[in-house]
Amino acid sequence: MTEAQALIRLQEIDLDMLRLASTLAAMPQQKKVQAIARARKKVQSELTKILGQRKDLETFIAENQGDLERYRARTEEVKAEAASGSHGYRQIQDYEAHLTGLAKKVEKLEHNRVQLDEDLEKVGRAESNARLTLERLDEEEAAQKKSFEKGSTQIRHRIVTLDEERKGVVAQISARHMSGYEAARKRFKGLAVERLVGNVPSICRVKLQPASFHDLTHGDAVAECPYCHRILVVDDPYGEGKGK
Ligand SMILES: [Zn+2]
Repeated sequence: MTEAQALIRLQEIDLDMLRLASTLAAMPQQKKVQAIARARKKVQSELTKILGQRKDLETFIAENQGDLERYRARTEEVKAEAASGSHGYRQIQDYEAHLTGLAKKVEKLEHNRVQLDEDLEKVGRAESNARLTLERLDEEEAAQKKSFEKGSTQIRHRIVTLDEERKGVVAQISARHMSGYEAARKRFKGLAVERLVGNVPSICRVKLQPASFHDLTHGDAVAECPYCHRILVVDDPYGEGKGK
């Protein structure tokens, strides 16, 4: 294989690989996997919010519990004080007022506590729902990936084979022409190399002037198209007269 032939084969391989890659990307499982990733992100941010709420509620409940214990203990102390020894009428009244105040505080805390416990339960349910959804999304993703693997076996095998061949082809191209090819490939969206068919380059199809034609056919096999500046392969036993 001459260097000119190698350049043409390299372009064919790269175009094939591009086509195969877009075939893979267009497989329905790929879209589904992306949709699953978006759904997971949403559920995860929901879960983060839920966990924040749970932490707040747990803090409130711990505070509520601490207050309750303190007021209940104080109540017992006041009751014990009132029961010990003999107290005058006004002192007894003071104790009663104190105990009534404490009872109201305890009642209020107990009332709040019912609400806090209900909220915590609700948040707990939301959390387990979110976790279940994440599990289901994981299962669905695994199923889609498996189906993708199965459906794309041939294509992936073809890509590996092409990639192997590409290494061999690249080994036959000089560093100078390789960097020219890579630059032209970017510039011309993959169509970097054209062949001279008769006196017409195969891609831009601008008929060469007789002088250019003479210069090109008497120069290197790998030249540059004077019109579109692609790599122009002049010595092309594959393409001559075959057309493509
Ligand atoms: Zn051209």
